Amino acid sequence: MSAQKVLIQDRKWITHDVLQIRTQRPRGFNFKPGQATELSIDAPAWQTETRPFTFTNKPSDDYLEFTIKIYPEHKGVTQKISELQQGDALLLHDVFGAIHYQGEGTFIAGGAGVTPFISILRTLESEGRIKNNTLLFANKTREDIILKEEFENMLRHNFINILSEEAHPDFAHGLISQHFIGEHMRSRSRPVYVCGPPPMIKMVIRELAGLGVPMNLLVKEEF
Ligand SMILES: Cc1cc2nc3c(=O)[nH]c(=O)nc-3n(C[C@H](O)[C@H](O)[C@H](O)COP(=O)(O)OP(=O)(O)OC[C@H]3O[C@@H](n4cnc5c(N)ncnc54)[C@H](O)[C@@H]3O)c2cc1C
Repeated sequence: MSAQKVLIQDRKWITHDVLQIRTQRPRGFNFKPGQATELSIDAPAWQTETRPFTFTNKPSDDYLEFTIKIYPEHKGVTQKISELQQGDALLLHDVFGAIHYQGEGTFIAGGAGVTPFISILRTLESEGRIKNNTLLFANKTREDIILKEEFENMLRHNFINILSEEAHPDFAHGLISQHFIGEHMRSRSRPVYVCGPPPMIKMVIRELAGLGVPMNLLVKEEF
């Protein structure tokens, strides 16, 4: 696919280090919830610096949305994205992605790994199909939780947080364990969607295997 240029319509910080960016949506540009695109900045020396980012809007929206964790210390694309303003341009390249909705189940995300689930869950909710899908969301502290209120409204008691670096009476504390998953997973014979950094995915797979969850139910993407 040749690159498509889109202008930024809106940008806002939704946590201390996560930026939500909305852009124009080219006519006929389609994606499935959970998919990502290679994205670059339309500025000299940046056009060929592509990085993968997930669409977090619903396919029915007339804009595209990205939810991007900024790493200033990398001095790379995300740092440069944090400096962009309304009217600046991005380039959309190939669309791809391993995570597609395959039925009601358990979603397990670490940090920005929640992004494929944002589009999937928003789409399900808008179609009245959110059912008992459950989101287990691992972060370091409360201030790292992306779209906390929206997930609470969408999923209610099926939105469960765990914090690794903050002990708080309203939240589970520690890393995602067999015990934690087993306590909140409604069924061991339904899909389990996992997205996050490679060490987290490795750990979750080990814990799921310990619970006896068949590995053919696993839908995963490494960030
Ligand atoms: C399919 C897929 C979808 C994704 N979707 C999203 C999404 O929707 N939202 C999101 O936030 N993220 C997403 N990611 C992750 C995202 O692509 C990366 O966070 C992003 O590429 C980082 O780009 P960067 O240029 O800022 O840093 P990088 O490309 O990671 O690094 C730039 C440079 O910094 C150096 N560097 C790396 N680590 C460090 C460090 N710790 N300290 C100092 N320097 C360092 C590297 O050597 C590199 O040269 C996704 C990833 C995948 C695979």
